[in-house]
Amino acid sequence: MSLLKDKVAVVSGAGSGIGRAIAETYANEGAKVVITDINEDHGNHTVKAIQEAGGEAFFVKADSSSAEDNKRLVEEIVKKYGRLDVACNNAGMGGPATPTGEYEPESWDKVIALNLSGVFYACRYQIEQMTKNGGGSIVNIASIHGTVAAPNSVAYTASKHGVVGLTKNIAAEYGEKGIRCNAVGPGYIETPLLTDHLNKDMMEAVARKSPMNRLGTPQEIADLVTFLSSDKSSFTTGSYIIADGGYTAI
Ligand code: NAD
Repeated sequence: MSLLKDKVAVVSGAGSGIGRAIAETYANEGAKVVITDINEDHGNHTVKAIQEAGGEAFFVKADSSSAEDNKRLVEEIVKKYGRLDVACNNAGMGGPATPTGEYEPESWDKVIALNLSGVFYACRYQIEQMTKNGGGSIVNIASIHGTVAAPNSVAYTASKHGVVGLTKNIAAEYGEKGIRCNAVGPGYIETPLLTDHLNKDMMEAVARKSPMNRLGTPQEIADLVTFLSSDKSSFTTGSYIIADGGYTAI
């Protein structure tokens, strides 16, 4: 109930799925949570759920693929709370399912802009503030496709490998300044990212690929992210931790 007591935290893509579970778990652990999403209704829904459970949250609409929006977001957080301690850069998209030889450059640009450049922009401005307030913890949401291929999703695979790399760079550069940065690699998790694009048979086939023979839940990712965000993981930085029911073990 108090892993993140009095910490100021931000979660992107917090209006749905994994981001929403992370935001709610942060709040349950005592953080003041800034919910950000491009979808205002969904973002406000998460804020309401947190407030109804007795937590503190407010919403800032922002496009995570925009450098300007990421800068403004940190400014708004500092204006309200004076600091930033914890950040989870979670907003992401899958992109089309197309073989690489037919993948449209416009789709590549769109996926990279959100999944990779967006995470860089977020970290860029979060680090600047965390340096001023004496440290912090950043968790970037990658994927198992930060280490293995997702056939027909070249931009997704490349973006998530990139997130793992930029996470390590930040850890290497900012360890001495008290800023930790880790990446989490979820396997297949039951969220709208999956349920909106796969039919029941496809979902079952994906579930069978992991030794645990099921999809993961957003809460199972949120619990790992919360551990990495908290002082319980105080010697962990530059790590890429997979939670995939054993998918990548075989
Ligand atoms: P989701 O589709 O349920 O939620 C994504 C959220 O991001 C939505 O609220 C959406 O409005 C928001 N968003 C989209 N574009 C945005 C933008 N430009 N700016 C700000 N917000 C934006 O997805 P999810 O499954 O919860 O995925 C969250 C993260 O987890 C993503 O980075 C995804 O790649 C990663 N991930 C998901 C799975 C999975 O199986 N679901 C597996 C591995 C990694």
